Amino acid sequence: MSTSSTDPARDSRASAEAGSARRHGADPELVRTKIVATLGPASSSEQAIGGLIQAGVDVFRLNMAHGSVAEHQATLDRVRRMSDELVRPVGVLVDLAGPKIRLGELPGGGVECVEGGRVRFVRGNAESTTDTFTTTYAPLVDELGPGDPVMLADGTVALVVEERRPDSVVCRVVQGGTVRSRQGVNLPGVKLSVAAMTSADWEHAEWAAGAGADFVSLSFVRSPVEVRLLKELLRTRGSLARVVAKIEKREAVDAMEAIVEAADVVMVARGDLGVEIDVATMPMVQKRIIRVCQRYQKPVIVATQMLDSMQHSRRPTRAEATDVANAILDGADACMLSGETAIGDHPRLVVEMMRRIARATESQYLADRWLSLEERQRAPWLAAAVDAVTPEVTPEGLHPITQAVVDGAGRIAADIGARLIVVASRTGVTAIARSKRRGAVPTVGVSDNVTTLRQMALYWGVTPLAGTVSTDVDALFAHVTAWGLAGGRLTKGDRIVFVAGVGFGTGGHNMALVKEV
Ligand code: PEP
Repeated sequence: MSTSSTDPARDSRASAEAGSARRHGADPELVRTKIVATLGPASSSEQAIGGLIQAGVDVFRLNMAHGSVAEHQATLDRVRRMSDELVRPVGVLVDLAGPKIRLGELPGGGVECVEGGRVRFVRGNAESTTDTFTTTYAPLVDELGPGDPVMLADGTVALVVEERRPDSVVCRVVQGGTVRSRQGVNLPGVKLSVAAMTSADWEHAEWAAGAGADFVSLSFVRSPVEVRLLKELLRTRGSLARVVAKIEKREAVDAMEAIVEAADVVMVARGDLGVEIDVATMPMVQKRIIRVCQRYQKPVIVATQMLDSMQHSRRPTRAEATDVANAILDGADACMLSGETAIGDHPRLVVEMMRRIARATESQYLADRWLSLEERQRAPWLAAAVDAVTPEVTPEGLHPITQAVVDGAGRIAADIGARLIVVASRTGVTAIARSKRRGAVPTVGVSDNVTTLRQMALYWGVTPLAGTVSTDVDALFAHVTAWGLAGGRLTKGDRIVFVAGVGFGTGGHNMALVKEV
């Protein structure tokens, strides 16, 4: 990683985009980091969804671990209706629960595990007692061995296996606390034979394909094969949904590169990740995952507890505000809200706060990203964020010529202080290539495919705009100009760089063209 440049041309480009960055950083409406919000009882009404879209949500998550398919279908219909009404393409992410192991019913809904005490896990689904628990995973008692850790209640209760018997395992309570019915059971580092997708996951994935989901995520991914399996399932059902690999197990961290390569999008699912691996190591694992995603040009979402205290409070803690800002500086394309919007007291306020933090962070980040040589020498501590983005691997579906044209367009846009880069894209992969460069000049992604438009809602710095993808750049220019002038994104004299294709196969981009409004 270099902290200074010896290339005067680069420095002059850098200062050109610096000017542009500062100008756009001041645009109060423009926030490049995307917001994913989980819908739940607090936010599923049409009015609430509309409010969240207006507050800045780009993608809604439907958490299949809760609720029925009929309820999710009704919520999805409401999202589509509000998105059409507000003329804002927003994506829908269907989050499959995956093979999460849960406790059975506990007497009175919850029991206290006392430090130094013993609890047993048994087969079957008979009602648990205060010291004998059942789980949703029948082979658990065969796959645990002495010394294995068992974490309950989001990692707040820790057990260690002492003895395996024919029909049970006996555990000692290392860290005591209260456990409740149906809470998750995490087995950090234990290799399980559980299938990647449960029968409920298959059913939900089939529904997602039929319902036109834009993204489908798989929980507890352990290998790239599992990601490919879901991709195949969706493809054979005619779905264009992009597959999100949730990294939340040690095995996934170990196979990170292969999983990132296989996935379309990645989620740093810190809720379970922070229990499956030592929570003290999680911040650096987050940074590693994001870096690998930058290298492979895959959008990455940072999830869970970002503004957790705002489930009840009207303000975040200092640490939460810093967490959101740091995720953005790490290179996250999107930040996700879970309980904050699903069951919290004021979902809209949380989205507004996340957007404010993103805007404040980006304006500084974008200015710093294009520091001059002198500025870099004066502020070397900024170099990590400034030089973080180094895409190296061309993703599937992106022609190397397209990649080069996108990069060239970014440089031209910087040199001439362009107001926008316009990428016409059928599948959205060209918009991803532009997005992963983290250029300060904002991008408009034009597509005539409704799923592509909704998917582009997730890509950092990309504003989706419905329009015809053709070789007719004059028509595209007229369309973008009319949209930009009407919405205040363009004024007369602004320069726009178009990335388009002329006579170059299907969907290939071989042209960067500059126009002035
Ligand atoms: C997570 O574990 O961080 C996560 C996003 O998954 P879920 O909310 O399904 O537990």
